Amino acid sequence: MYDYDLLVIGAGSGGVRASRMASSDLGLKVAIVEDNMMGGTCVNVGCVPKKLFTYAGDFAHSLEDAKGYGWNYKNQSFDWKILRKNKDKEIKRLNNVYENMLKNAGVDIINGYATFVDKNTVRINNKNYTAERILISAGATTSLPDTSGIEHAKTSFDAFYLDKLPNEVIIVGGGYIAVEFASIFNNLGAKTKLLLRGDRILREFDNETVDFVSNQMQELGIEIIYNTDIKKLSKKNNKTICHTDKKDFSAELVMYATGRKPYTDKLGLQQVGVKTRNGAIKVNDDFQTNIPSIYALGDVIDKMQLTPVALSEAMTFLNRVYGDKTKKMDYENIPTAIFCYPNMATVGLSQEQATEQGYKFDIYKSNFKPMKNTISGSNCRSFVKLIVDKNTQKVLGVHMIGDDASEIIQGMAIAVKAGLKKSDFDNTIGIHPTSAEEFVTMRTPS
Ligand code: NDP
Repeated sequence: MYDYDLLVIGAGSGGVRASRMASSDLGLKVAIVEDNMMGGTCVNVGCVPKKLFTYAGDFAHSLEDAKGYGWNYKNQSFDWKILRKNKDKEIKRLNNVYENMLKNAGVDIINGYATFVDKNTVRINNKNYTAERILISAGATTSLPDTSGIEHAKTSFDAFYLDKLPNEVIIVGGGYIAVEFASIFNNLGAKTKLLLRGDRILREFDNETVDFVSNQMQELGIEIIYNTDIKKLSKKNNKTICHTDKKDFSAELVMYATGRKPYTDKLGLQQVGVKTRNGAIKVNDDFQTNIPSIYALGDVIDKMQLTPVALSEAMTFLNRVYGDKTKKMDYENIPTAIFCYPNMATVGLSQEQATEQGYKFDIYKSNFKPMKNTISGSNCRSFVKLIVDKNTQKVLGVHMIGDDASEIIQGMAIAVKAGLKKSDFDNTIGIHPTSAEEFVTMRTPS
């Protein structure tokens, strides 16, 4: 009756996972539609190239730190063109890996942009395709304010394809992307300013942890300019000027990282009556929209814009629509990392959220110089913090700043998800000498 059992729009993290498993594990006839590169934001202009750039920046510190350990480097230099070339090569490799994975799973790949014709039909390259179910996993795209002269601003997308490393950079915003790129540019040697409208970066995270990381970033040379509104942008010679309510700031590159919005504008959702809220598609626990044959997941819905969340949503979608319905997507205690320098990672409640939710809690924290920095000459310090429910003794939140925080917090997330108590942490023997052992050696609440 239909061309396909399932037609997926968008070959990003969620779409690829859903289509691949639907075809290979469930034996469904599946097609995936993509008008750009395989792998979506994460692979092409998100997590993967960002992490590669982060590694590049971190080497600046490793090289500096190594001197305290007796290493001597002559003619140390950094070549942006090599980084970009190798990054592009790796992304191309991953694009092919994704394409082959889909083909090997028996998924039909349709190159083009899909727009809805009716609740079971999309039009791609002037041809109609029908499916019993259509899953929208079209992702999100950069959201820019309506500021005069905004055409002079670049985005994180552009930053991945710069021909040269700028000498000076202004990054507008204080979220994940702004903070991560500020560290990347600063570590690679660009004079970096972070310009934000509010009074703190990473506003939704534990305030004390954020204050710690912002202080460290400033000590490492990033200028953070708070409470500043940009009135307009202009261009003079090769510089972009931010005219603010305070004064003008200019740089070779002005990059806006002011959030991302669901990529739904051109799908023709109105044509079929799919309901949205602020551009995000509304779905129920089965990831079903108000139109029964149409589903959505990943960055197009109003949840967390994170790759592992999209992957988990894809598995939950398959279970609930084609399986035994035993799974339900759980958005509690999702760990997350900000790959700034130093690294910050977190799981569970911030102190502010614990207060808001009415918990009575103890705080255990430690601010220390990691052993590596005792003779490296680096002034970077690490910070760990536990928030513990006074009544149940359950660990409600774990926060860390320091080397490998993202790796360490992944393990801590299992403990928080399992509802472990402070005594479970206390009964665990530390691995010495590490930074992570702090989590099991803090005895006195602060
Ligand atoms: P975020 O939502 O994290 O941050 C947006 C920032 O832009 C905030 O600081 C916000 O300020 C500011 N802002 C918003 N509108 C304006 C405006 N008109 N003028 C000035 N500033 C403005 O968005 P990002 O773009 O950084 O990232 C998008 C999403 O991508 C994240 O939410 C995250 O889910 C995902 N991501 C995850 C990463 C990871 O896991 N490591 C890395 C990168 C992205 P205010 O605080 O005042 O609202």
